[in-house]
Amino acid sequence: MTATQPPAANSESGTTTTVDPATNGKPVVEPPVLGGPAHTDYYLLDDLLTDEQRALRRRVRSFMDREVLPIIDPYWERAEFPHELVPKLAELGIAGFQIPGYGSPGMSNVTAGLVILELARGDLSISTFAGVHSALAMMSIALLGSEEQKQRFLPPMARLEKVGAFGLTEPAHGTDVVVLETTARRDGDSYVLNGHKRWIGNATFADYSIIWARGDDGHVGGYVVEKGTPGFESKAIAGKTALRCVQNAQISLTDVRVPAENRLAGSHTFRDTEKVLMASRFCVAWEAIGAAIAGYETALAYTQQRHQFGMPLTSFQLVQYRLSQMLADITAMLFMTRRLSQLLDEGKATMPEVALAKMHNTQRARAILADARDLLGGNGIVLDYHVARHLCDIEAIDTYEGTDTVQALIVGRDITGKNAFVPVPQPR
Ligand SMILES: Cc1cc2nc3c(=O)[nH]c(=O)nc-3n(C[C@H](O)[C@H](O)[C@H](O)COP(=O)(O)OP(=O)(O)OC[C@H]3O[C@@H](n4cnc5c(N)ncnc54)[C@H](O)[C@@H]3O)c2cc1C
Repeated sequence: MTATQPPAANSESGTTTTVDPATNGKPVVEPPVLGGPAHTDYYLLDDLLTDEQRALRRRVRSFMDREVLPIIDPYWERAEFPHELVPKLAELGIAGFQIPGYGSPGMSNVTAGLVILELARGDLSISTFAGVHSALAMMSIALLGSEEQKQRFLPPMARLEKVGAFGLTEPAHGTDVVVLETTARRDGDSYVLNGHKRWIGNATFADYSIIWARGDDGHVGGYVVEKGTPGFESKAIAGKTALRCVQNAQISLTDVRVPAENRLAGSHTFRDTEKVLMASRFCVAWEAIGAAIAGYETALAYTQQRHQFGMPLTSFQLVQYRLSQMLADITAMLFMTRRLSQLLDEGKATMPEVALAKMHNTQRARAILADARDLLGGNGIVLDYHVARHLCDIEAIDTYEGTDTVQALIVGRDITGKNAFVPVPQPR
């Protein structure tokens, strides 16, 4: 900082303003510190929460503001995962999200959603790490594992002593992963896995990687591959422009021998993966809200402080219009996703309803973050101001757990009764 005066903290907006000789003594806006007042709960949805839910939400938010935001940018720039945060995340006691028992907190879907929102508001790489571990890897075991498998794998994962990964996507099969080619051949007391996986989060260091493979009977099952198993090679995908802290791996499986007791007992067909994907896609819908809130809060704080034409940017009608649009979108996202969470809690939600929220929220979050970046002017592309990282990261959120198009096709099939995934000749 080259300020001639100490920065004046503005706790309301979460920014500081300094006087810089480089600007002839005119005030400039220091990078905003997220964690100011919650501007975004416009219709007081939080009044509907219990004291415990509000306390947990505050705890996660303050963890992200205190422990993550000050250190995350250099990790993002170096494309490294901040392993130092794992024991601290463990102390939060959130791993496993909605899973009941086995050391997991057994949250309601509303509570889990709010926790994920707060993780994502701070950083999408951290929320993705938590989502892959809890909503994909742990959830696969919780939904499809035998009692013995749950007892064996889940407690150390709930304590984050063991980290999970979820290997479904392949180099040649993303959207059409239903035709995945990785094989699992039964050989005595083991299965022998061969094939390739791509984009698998956490997989460069995970202790348990759930690998989805096609068995001798042609059906897809989940196999827990433990760290260090010979023939399992994972290499981080380099040059990513989104979620740079997340270690997404290209995996080669060459005669990987997995004990028969590591085959998830309740995984019988590809449809079983969808049970897991419904839970994790729901988490992604909440992640998008967190990222959108970060963009809106930062844009509001920044435009309150930044002066042009002798006035704060918030004095201009067009700036107010854009901020109002952001708030309207966030309010709509919160209502839609809160209700979806209640439906899940009541066992009434369907995959198309989850897909609608994922599609809507990621679309709106992308738009909000692009607008926020613009409202910060040049500073919008500087990591210190938070928006740049979220704007890059939201691109991956749009793609993973099924792209925007795929969510629309799931909803489209539901509302029209026609499957448009695979083109079929239409009768004349
Ligand atoms: C950062 C990141 C993390 C990820 N983490 C994981 C993970 O941990 N585990 C895992 O298993 N996978 C993971 N994935 C994979 C992710 O789920 C896939 O990238 C996603 O499903 C899309 O597959 P694809 O990239 O192969 O794109 P493709 O399937 O090749 O799609 C390319 C484009 O074609 C469009 N398209 C495809 N089919 C149709 C159709 N029928 N009609 C219209 N348009 C269509 C898509 O919408 C998209 O726009 C991750 C991906 C990313 C980017």
